[in-house]
Amino acid sequence: MRLLFLGPPGAGKGTQAKLVAERYGLIHVAPGDIFRQEVKKGSELGRLVEGIMARGELVPDEITVRVMEQALSAPEAMPGFVLDGFPRNLAQAVALDKMLAAIGQRLDKVISLEVGEDELIERARTRRVCLACGRPYNLRTNAPAVAGRCDVCGGELVQRQDDREETVRERLRVYNDVTRPLCEYYGSQGILVRIDGSKTVDEVFSRISELIAGTVRPGESDRP
Ligand code: AMP
Repeated sequence: MRLLFLGPPGAGKGTQAKLVAERYGLIHVAPGDIFRQEVKKGSELGRLVEGIMARGELVPDEITVRVMEQALSAPEAMPGFVLDGFPRNLAQAVALDKMLAAIGQRLDKVISLEVGEDELIERARTRRVCLACGRPYNLRTNAPAVAGRCDVCGGELVQRQDDREETVRERLRVYNDVTRPLCEYYGSQGILVRIDGSKTVDEVFSRISELIAGTVRPGESDRP
């Protein structure tokens, strides 16, 4: 199974993509996570993307596509994957179609998580991630058992630099300009499903599980 999550920053793509990957034994592939790891390592790639990410801009397609080609051609990706944060524009979507066609594959479903902008800004303000394992939390809705510590590995919880309000507004602008049009792209392929992402993590996950079980037809929407 090959799934892709679309949605503005803070819509819950990372949380849901990780849950789906765990439940169905797929790998979770997120360029944002890969870039953050490289920044942490201080690699050449990390140094190249650090400033771009801090400003909320997109890393150039050439770099992103190369990183994703590597990730998706790994043996672990062969049984299937959940993509989170790629593609983010039309050129990347076309590059992904080509990558998959080259191995005789295609995406099965594209899940668009839909959340209003005020809620997204509030979520970013209260979002924390584990510095050690990357697990996301939310201080309002999904707080850790011990303040400031990851439930799973005990790592320190921090606010992502790009979750500051002015950066979030820039990321939303980028999303609306260049990523949102992908809903049409995948809609016209008949594989897009829109899901209301403003509900709780459990509610959204059970909706996605229903969809995966085939109970929601592509193109059908939760939203009025
Ligand atoms: P995310 O964790 O998905 O919110 O991504 C964090 C940052 O990584 C983004 O704001 C971009 O700077 C960069 N990034 C992630 N995915 C992509 C992509 N598909 N294309 C370009 N830049 C990306």
